[in-house]
Amino acid sequence: MARVIVVGGGYAGVWCARRIVRAARPGVVVTLVSDRGHHSFHGWTAEVLTGEVRAEHARVPLVDLLPGVELVGGRVTRIDPERRVVEVATPSGARSLVGDHIVVAPGSRDASCAVPGLAEHAWSLKDTAGVEDLGRHLDEVLAEARYADAATRGRLLTVVVAGGGFTGVEVATAIAQRLRRDARAGDAPRVVLAHSGAQALPSLRPRFDRVADYAVTQAAAAGVEFLPHARLTAVTADGAEFGASGFVAAATVVTAIGQTPVRLEGLEALPRDRTGRLVTDRFLRLGPGLWAGGDGAAVPHPRTGAPCPADALWAIHHGTRIGSNILRELTGRAPRPFRFPGLGQGASLGVGRGIAELYGVPLTGWPAWVARWFFFHVFMPSRRVALAAAVDWVRPHALPREAQRARG
Ligand SMILES: Cc1cc2nc3c(=O)[nH]c(=O)nc-3n(C[C@H](O)[C@H](O)[C@H](O)COP(=O)(O)OP(=O)(O)OC[C@H]3O[C@@H](n4cnc5c(N)ncnc54)[C@H](O)[C@@H]3O)c2cc1C
Repeated sequence: MARVIVVGGGYAGVWCARRIVRAARPGVVVTLVSDRGHHSFHGWTAEVLTGEVRAEHARVPLVDLLPGVELVGGRVTRIDPERRVVEVATPSGARSLVGDHIVVAPGSRDASCAVPGLAEHAWSLKDTAGVEDLGRHLDEVLAEARYADAATRGRLLTVVVAGGGFTGVEVATAIAQRLRRDARAGDAPRVVLAHSGAQALPSLRPRFDRVADYAVTQAAAAGVEFLPHARLTAVTADGAEFGASGFVAAATVVTAIGQTPVRLEGLEALPRDRTGRLVTDRFLRLGPGLWAGGDGAAVPHPRTGAPCPADALWAIHHGTRIGSNILRELTGRAPRPFRFPGLGQGASLGVGRGIAELYGVPLTGWPAWVARWFFFHVFMPSRRVALAAAVDWVRPHALPREAQRARG
């Protein structure tokens, strides 16, 4: 019997476990360890905030996703790469799992240690449950603002989104749209998008300047104020500190400053790149019987040799290739190198207002929005939930509140 232990129930872990189980090789047992009972589809974060996609359709219970996989709910505390042992803290006590193959795919987490107060006072977007809580919090501050004095109202109605990358621009725009829709007439909600550099969306620049500028224009039209050269230095209960760029009083600070790889004990001796990702070979191996993929792995790009970007599509392809390579090794065949060349990137600033770069072709407006919408549904891990998410777009709850009231 061969045992495969997968650490992490995100994109890389789920696609890896599924690849192996679907091959239905007798005598192969796959165990997946995750500290969350569900897979979060981060792509719909902005849409969960605007209400276009229900939060429950942006996550899927692992038990539904992975029939045939033994699931262990708990936090991996240590990996012994020599003995191939994974130590797990579960609610019912510590467990040691021994595998012939171990797949390290714990992803990334908010870079909270980089900024004092971030973990305590900022809203994280890393899990859909947290995004739902953020939505409820925004409703609460709007309600509280009704009875507040002018100074307090200003702070309650101000939201700071820190980080001018894809997630920051999308989420700031979604929050601005939500607040404009739900605020009382006369209230003037303020959404500040703070970015450490001169221009938002640096990953698109300079090659796709036109696409990035379109996104910034759309965000501004939704009411987002852009604060350049503002590196987040601290978060307090009263707002966000930006060093020399000053303090913004806000009842809501959202972090989109980026992620840092999850580091697991026991792997200290393995090489990492400058961002802390575990460096794999082109077969996604860290060593014999030890594999890594997803946000926590620096996998060489098949064309450039530089590490692949950290996003969902790459994690999906890492996971699938690791699963295939484990199957090959189990049947005495040589593993194959990672060959996925990439597809592109995209974001939405509202229905019909998308930006995308697909195979190097820049797109804006409806073509970008439709392409992103289509690919996101295709890459959701569950067909059933993808269909439910697609139906959400035509449900009445997706409409602005005024339209809902008008419908009855
Ligand atoms: C707000 C947001 C929006 C995003 N939008 C997009 C987008 O539009 N398009 C895109 O391509 N990418 C997007 N991304 C990036 C994408 O989500 C990541 O690249 C992707 O999640 C990486 O997959 P992964 O499998 O490496 O890790 P993850 O999906 O993070 O999964 C890792 C899993 O491991 C678990 N885990 C971690 N540590 C342990 C431990 N010690 N023990 C047990 N389990 C553990 C975690 O709980 C998690 O379930 C977004 C990310 C965020 C946060």
